[in-house]
Amino acid sequence: MRLKDKVALITGAGSGIGRETAVLFSAEGAAVVAVDVNEAAARETAKLLKSSIAVRADVSKAADCEKMIQEAEKAFGRLNVLFNNAGIMDSRDDDAISTDETVWDRTMDINAKGVFLGCKYGIPALRRAGGGSIVNTASFVALMGAATPQIAYTASKGAVLAMTRELAVIHARQNIRVNALCPGPLRTELLMKFLDTDAKRNRRLVHLPMGRFGEAREIAQAALWLASDESSYVTGAEFMVDGGLTAAYVTPE
Ligand code: NAD
Repeated sequence: MRLKDKVALITGAGSGIGRETAVLFSAEGAAVVAVDVNEAAARETAKLLKSSIAVRADVSKAADCEKMIQEAEKAFGRLNVLFNNAGIMDSRDDDAISTDETVWDRTMDINAKGVFLGCKYGIPALRRAGGGSIVNTASFVALMGAATPQIAYTASKGAVLAMTRELAVIHARQNIRVNALCPGPLRTELLMKFLDTDAKRNRRLVHLPMGRFGEAREIAQAALWLASDESSYVTGAEFMVDGGLTAAYVTPE
């Protein structure tokens, strides 16, 4: 039981990486606070878990983030792990010329400000618990430049990486570790909705040495390690889980 006696809050827990991680964290002994803007989806996830509550929160809203942390402490008495995972990829996100300002603002509000707000209210709770682990979901696009244009998404994930480094340094002496998880392209709803034709999917697969998209449960395994005490000397890291994508220069046939 790698998360025995830990209380973990997961945002975006209603689907994809968040749901798989909730299931894994629960199997490893954690009490889980399943947070999602889609309340029904959060409840569906919570039903799969042993000890859990579902909370509806929009991570781009300060009041919602404050409330989700309060609910965690109210239900389980403390918070040990904060997984800032909720994110969107808007299908209208494109190159700088075509992308509407509203798409930019919404993407930054959820993907970047959402991480800031999670930390703003989550860090005091982790300090009350004597420390803890924060995992922020970034993406390989924060390091590589995207093969298909998605200017707002790419910028938002770059912000997550930069924030993670600062948070790690500033809170290191408070026994709080902060790491960024950088998934490669996954076979989840988020990406498959964006890559909605064979041509678009194949364009992305060209870059993957393994020749396949990743699975959400493969990211959950990495989140588990970063959340657990097994990674006790790891902070400020960019943890790539990408099927070799960022290592590739030329992909073998
Ligand atoms: P997903 O769409 O399956 O799940 C995302 C969840 O976040 C959904 O349940 C959604 O309702 C929730 N959500 C959206 N906006 C929210 C908000 N404002 N407040 C609270 N919850 C909100 O996506 P996923 O693939 O599991 O993605 C999870 C994270 O992983 C995201 O940050 C995404 O950017 C990142 N990521 C995904 C991929 C990929 O290929 N799927 C690759 C790299 C990074």
